[in-house]
Parts: sequence; structure tokens; C-alpha cells
Amino acid sequence: MKPFDFQRANTVPEALDLLGPGGAFLAGGTNLVDHLRAGIREVSGLVDVSRLDLTDITETAGGGLRVGALVSNSDMAAHPLIRQRYPVLAEAILAGASGQIRNMATTGGNLLQRTRCVYFYDPATPCNKREPGSGCSAIHGFGKYNALFGASEHCVTVHPSDMCVALAVLDAVVVAQSREGERRIPFADFHRLPGDTPQLDTTLRPGELITAVELPAVPVAAHSTYRKARERASYAFALVSVAAALHLEGGVVREVRLACGGVAHKPWRAAVAEAELTGRPATAEHFRAAIEAELGSARSGPENAFKVPMLRNMVVSVLEELRDGGTPQRRAEQGGAA
Ligand SMILES: Cc1cc2nc3c(=O)[nH]c(=O)nc-3n(C[C@H](O)[C@H](O)[C@H](O)COP(=O)(O)OP(=O)(O)OC[C@H]3O[C@@H](n4cnc5c(N)ncnc54)[C@H](O)[C@@H]3O)c2cc1C
Repeated sequence: MKPFDFQRANTVPEALDLLGPGGAFLAGGTNLVDHLRAGIREVSGLVDVSRLDLTDITETAGGGLRVGALVSNSDMAAHPLIRQRYPVLAEAILAGASGQIRNMATTGGNLLQRTRCVYFYDPATPCNKREPGSGCSAIHGFGKYNALFGASEHCVTVHPSDMCVALAVLDAVVVAQSREGERRIPFADFHRLPGDTPQLDTTLRPGELITAVELPAVPVAAHSTYRKARERASYAFALVSVAAALHLEGGVVREVRLACGGVAHKPWRAAVAEAELTGRPATAEHFRAAIEAELGSARSGPENAFKVPMLRNMVVSVLEELRDGGTPQRRAEQGGAA
């Protein structure tokens, strides 16, 4: 690890002032410290923001919640109002990492965690995300984890966060502060597709500090859930995941929200499937037709082709579960397995 300056900020303005060129904010450190140790990132200095007063979850005037950037993943998942109004978010967070890591990991850091592509983590191989212009080893290499949607000739990796898939269906807003003032970024515009600049994961500008995530009032989210397919029961990122919320009237879909993880460079809001399903009877046949319409733009190779039926089956199964009145959280509350 190369030497760097380390400073601790006590206020947001102080954090913004302390950050110099080539520096980075340090929150829980569960992703950034790994990168520094592995030699895949260098910084001129770290500004520790972990002591900033951004640890509250408060109600907003519009009936939503404002989650401070330093609320830990554990505290967010355990908060009664999150569990009640946005079960998909609590379930998504609990599907990720481990208890110890969720205790350290913060809301802001989770938004900015970087890909788990094996080539990104191996400095001996080309990776456009780690070293722009060097090439993408994953395109013709180990392809099991590659994206289905929105990849480019420069990068085929996927976004690793579970929490962010839930935030995508909730139309969250990321609040960022810079020396110039505050900026509010709609969640759909926060993460980006790789295009020809895959080194940029988000639209956050250099020097901006995330101070909060705002969750609008989303009544349909009270009936929502998250499901994740992974290779181990813990410590494993999503092969494919689905965040879903469903509102029916007389057996007809009045509102549906769907987002998929493990399939694109950003949490993938399945807008095509949502449009296809809205107004239709809530049958497995229509659920399948909706995700088929979404999959029309999917591109896969021999090693990640398994993700297509996995995603199709998961979407149908999750929507059936919501239609039939069950969610993992409800089963747990009733004393069953979560
Ligand atoms: C073994 C392991 C397994 C994991 N499994 C999963 C999983 O299954 N699912 C999942 O979703 N995640 C998983 N994670 C990732 C984990 O969720 C992230 O490491 C964590 O959320 C990052 O948060 P942090 O506060 O530690 O961020 P840090 O490591 O402190 O920072 C990450 C990045 O965000 C920047 N940053 C942090 N806070 C701010 C801010 N407020 N404003 C601006 N920039 C900021 C930092 O500069 C850095 O670039 C796993 C991690 C590990 C180590």
C-alpha cells in the first residue's frame, strides 16, 4: 500500500475542505480499504467521515424517510419504519454481506461500492474500469458473472449492491453536498451504464459528499420483497436478484415495480416489464410475458446464459408470491423461515 495522508472530519464543511485532489472519503472502509490493500486504487489522502452527524433516519414532510449517509446497513435494515414501509429494502440489505460487515458498512459507501469483476481485482490483467484504455478481459474471458443488459464493448461487468436494487424500485433520491451547494440526484440517474467510460460508476462529481438518501412515500412498497440467487448462503454477491412491489385490484395489476440485480452495470429497473404487466390480470402467464418482453434486449454468452432462465423464473415466482399474499418478512413474523 502506498503512503497517504489521513485526516478526520468532524463536520460536513470540514470534510469538504479537507478533501484534496486525488483524495477519498472513508466511511465504513469495507470496500475502499480492500482496494487500497489490493493495490487497485491509490489515494493521496483519506478524509475519515465516519464521525459526521449523518446517522439519523427521519420522516419527511411528504410521508417519506431521509436516511443519513452514515446510517449503517444494519441500522437501516432494522429500522421499524423501513421494515414497515419498504420491506424490500430491509430484505435486500439483509441478503448482502455478513452481520459484521453490515455493522460497518454505511448507506453512502454501499451506493459507491465497486464491481466484483475478477479482472478488476487482478492488477495483472487489463481492465478498462481499473485502468481506462487497457481493455476488458471479461469479454473473452471468464464470463459467468457478466451483464445481460446495457453492456458495452469496453465493460461487461455488473453492479454488486443488493441495497441499490431495492432503492431503484423505490425511486430514491441521492443527496450530495459540495462546496458549491447541495444537489439531489434521482436514483435512476445516479449509477450509469459503462459506455466508453466504464471507469465512472456514477454521476457523482469529484469532491461531492453524499449526505443522505431520501425515500419518497411509495404506498405499493408496503407490499414488496427481495429475492437473491447466489452461490453460498452468505458472503456471496447476486448471480441474479429481483426487487418487486405489487398492487392488485380485483386480480388485476394496478401498479408493479421491478428491478433486477446481477444483470447490468447499474441496478436494472425493468421498465419494459412493468409497462407490459400494468393493467393485466395477475397470472403467471402475464408475469412470464412481461419479463420475456424485458429480456428482449438481453445479450448473453455461453457462460452467463444461465442468468436468462434464472431471471425469468425468479420474476415469475416473486410476483406469484406477492400476489398470493406472502413475503419472506411476513413468513418470518409468523414464525416461519425467513
Ligand atoms: C466479504 C464481503 C462481502 C460482501 N457482500 C456483499 C453483498 O452480498 N451484497 C452487497 O450489496 N454488498 C456486499 N459487500 C459490500 C459492502 O456492502 C460494501 O463494502 C459496503 O456497503 C461499503 O460501505 P462502506 O461504508 O464500508 O464504504 P467505504 O469502503 O468506506 O467506501 C466505499 C466508497 O465510497 C466512498 N464513500 C463512502 N462514503 C461516502 C460519502 N458519504 N460520500 C461520498 N463518497 C463516499 C469512498 O470514498 C469509497 O470510494 C460485501 C463486502 C465484503 C467485504
